[in-house]
Amino acid sequence: MNDAELDRWVDVLRPHLVPTPSTGEGVCHICRSWKFPEKPVCSNCAQVVAELTLPCLKVFPISLYIKPSQLRDWLKFYKPNSEGFAPSHCDNIAAILALGVQRNLTAMQNVMGPWDEIAVVPSTFARTSHPLEAQLRNAGLGANLGRPLIRTNVPLGHRTMSDVGYQTSKEVSGLRILLVDDVYTTGARSQSAASALQLAGATVVGIVAIGRRINPGYNDFSLRLWKEQRAQSFQFGRIFEAHRDA
Ligand SMILES: [Zn+2]
Repeated sequence: MNDAELDRWVDVLRPHLVPTPSTGEGVCHICRSWKFPEKPVCSNCAQVVAELTLPCLKVFPISLYIKPSQLRDWLKFYKPNSEGFAPSHCDNIAAILALGVQRNLTAMQNVMGPWDEIAVVPSTFARTSHPLEAQLRNAGLGANLGRPLIRTNVPLGHRTMSDVGYQTSKEVSGLRILLVDDVYTTGARSQSAASALQLAGATVVGIVAIGRRINPGYNDFSLRLWKEQRAQSFQFGRIFEAHRDA
């Protein structure tokens, strides 16, 4: 994708993207979802911090999303092995990564420092190449893509996380690694991956997720945050601005 093509993508994508909030009373400073005003972080991050030894406390979702929504379908069906796979979804995901990450490298380094390697959180035991790796390459982010993690047979799930859900596949001590995942819901997988890397001596500079799932029907706090954020127009150039104060 050249610059002119990418510019055209902005108008296609923007109606389906919802900016993540800045920190505030009702916002979790780790993952940018809603939280109870009296709690320090959201319930997902409270579990992450309680159960994992060295999670990464800097999560950078590009957009909030709900189910159902267009973004949710792109995120679910861009994988070639998914039942509703549509090749156009790959283009959408790559364009979001190109505009959201590739064009924001300076802003990203301002909030998380430099990194040596970009790694996708492995999703299954068998797959050697995660479909998101192809989309990162399509977005021009293939240069320092690494595979430092292997999934172990220790169970992980929606609310099941573990320091040993992943193991490292190589020496990572001293490496600064940027983790990327398609969605962030409870953080069980990506934070288990982050903890495994950091326990092995790496520094996870941040977790970038394309979509942070939010459930507006959960309570008044989640509904209010969703309505406030949805009312704002999405700006690709401002994704990492909200994180400066973190
Ligand atoms: Zn959180």
